Amino acid sequence: MKTYGHYINGEEIISSTTFEDLNPYTGEIFALAARGNAQDANKAVTAARAGFEKWSGLPPAERERAMLKAADLLEARVDSLVEILIDESGSVITKARGEVLYSASLIRAAAGEVRRLYGDTFPNDKPHRLSMVIREPLGVVVAISPFNAPLSLLVKMIAFALGAGNAVVAKPSEETPVIALELAKVMNEAGLPSGTFNVVTGFGAEVGPALIESSDVNGIAFTGSTSTGISIAQSAIKTMKRMQMELGGKNPLVVLKDVDIEEAAEIAAAGAFFHGGQICMSSARIIVEKEIARPFAEALARKAKSLQLGDLRNPQTAYGPVINQRSLEKIQGHVQSARDAGAEILAGGDVYRGLIYQPTVIWEPPRTCALWNEETFGPVTAVVAVNDLEEAIALANESEYGLSAGVLTNDMIRGMTAARRIRCGAVHVGMHSFQSDSMAPVGGFGMSGFGRSGGQYSVEHFTELKWISLELGKTPRPF
Ligand code: NAD
Repeated sequence: MKTYGHYINGEEIISSTTFEDLNPYTGEIFALAARGNAQDANKAVTAARAGFEKWSGLPPAERERAMLKAADLLEARVDSLVEILIDESGSVITKARGEVLYSASLIRAAAGEVRRLYGDTFPNDKPHRLSMVIREPLGVVVAISPFNAPLSLLVKMIAFALGAGNAVVAKPSEETPVIALELAKVMNEAGLPSGTFNVVTGFGAEVGPALIESSDVNGIAFTGSTSTGISIAQSAIKTMKRMQMELGGKNPLVVLKDVDIEEAAEIAAAGAFFHGGQICMSSARIIVEKEIARPFAEALARKAKSLQLGDLRNPQTAYGPVINQRSLEKIQGHVQSARDAGAEILAGGDVYRGLIYQPTVIWEPPRTCALWNEETFGPVTAVVAVNDLEEAIALANESEYGLSAGVLTNDMIRGMTAARRIRCGAVHVGMHSFQSDSMAPVGGFGMSGFGRSGGQYSVEHFTELKWISLELGKTPRPF
C-alpha cells in the first residue's frame, strides 16, 4: 500500500497526518493520503500565485504544447490510470477506460481554447476614443471535485482554467485523492511550470475554508452536491469570487408513446444504471405516456435483472459498488420510502453484495416520497405514467433541480416541444439524460447550480473582461 503526499509547487509534499483511501469493492485500504489542513491550503495558494505569473506569461504556443503533451501522457498511461479508477473509485473497466480517454480529449479541447481568448472592439459615441475589450485570466482558481468521475470531472474544470491562463489548486474528493495526484504528475511532466497545477488532498471541512476564503484565490469551480455547493458559495461570496457550481440532479426521462418499447427500455437502463446511477445526470425519474407505461416499465425491469454485476475488470460488468456505506444507506432509505408509500418494486430493491446495490426499478412511487424528489445517487429509477405530453412536461418540471433531461420519441415536433419547455440545462431528444461533450455548455437550472462548463463557456467563466480605451484626440472636459 502506498502513502501519498500533497502535490505543491511541482513536488510531492509528504504529510505526517494521513487518512485511509478505501477500495469500495474490497473494503481494503487502497492508499494512505495526506490529510490536508489550512496551512497546506495556504502553501498551495502561494505556489499557485507564483505559478500563475509563469504560466500566464508564456506565449500561447508553449501553453498549447504543454497541454497537448499532457493529453498524450494521459493516453499513454491509460492502463495504469484505469487500474487506479477501478480500485479507488469502484469503476468498472469500461467506464474507467472511457473516462481516461475522455479526459485526454478534454485537455486537447482546452488546449484549442488557448488561442481563442478573443477580445473585441466597439463603436464609441466619443469621437476620439478607441475602445477595446480584452480577456484576462482570473488568476488562481480553486477546483473542488467529486468522487464519481474523479478524473474527467476534475479535468473538465482544471483544463479549461489552465487553457485560459490561470493557475489551479485542486481539492479532490477524500474518496479519490490518488487519481488527482497522478494527474498532477502528468501536468508536471508535460512541462507546466511548477506551481501551475497543485493538489491538496483531505477533507472538505479541513482544507476547503482556507482555499475558499483566501484573498489570493480569484475563482472557484465546484462540482459536487447541492448542499456543499451552497455552503461554499456562501463563504466565497464574501470575497466576491467568480463561481461555477455544478451540482446535483433528479433528472427526468420522458418516454412518448410512439417509441419502440424494448429499445426505449435499453436506452433508459443505460441512463439510469451507468456507474450504478452515481452520475449527476442519471435518468432517475422516468415519465411515460400511459399507453405504453406498464409494458415499458416491465421491459426496463427485465433489462435491469439481466445486468451483470461484480467483477470490475470484466468488460461485461454493468457497474460495481457505490462509493461508501453512507451512500448505500441513503439508497436503502430512498427505496424504503417508496416501499412504505406502497410503490411496487419491479426489479431489485436490495443489496446485491457488499456495497453493490441491485439495479432497481420502482413503479409509481407517490410524488411525495424521498425517492421521487431527492437525489438518490444509486442504481434506482422510478417509472410513472402520465396522460399526455403536457402532463409529462409539467411533471418533468416538478423538481427543484434542473440539470439534464432526455426525451424518447420519433416525433420531432413533440420532442422539440418538450425540449423547449423542460427547464433543464440540457435536453437530449432521442437519448437519455446522461450526455457529455467537451464543447457543450454543461450546467444546471435551479438547485442544480449556475455557470456553464465546456469549450468557450468555460473560458468565459475563467476569464475577466477588461475595457481599455485610448484617447486619440482632444476630448472636451467638464471643467
Ligand atoms: P460532495 O458535495 O460531498 O463533495 C464534493 C467535494 O466537495 C469533495 O471534494 C469534498 O471534499 C468537498 N467539500 C465538502 N465540504 C466542503 C467544504 N466545506 N468546503 C470545501 N470543499 C468541501 O459531493 P460528492 O458526494 O463527492 O459527489 C456527488 C455529488 O456531486 C452529487 O450530488 C452529484 O450530483 C454531484 N455531481 C454534479 C455534477 C455536475 O456536473 N453537475 C457532476 C458530478 C457530480
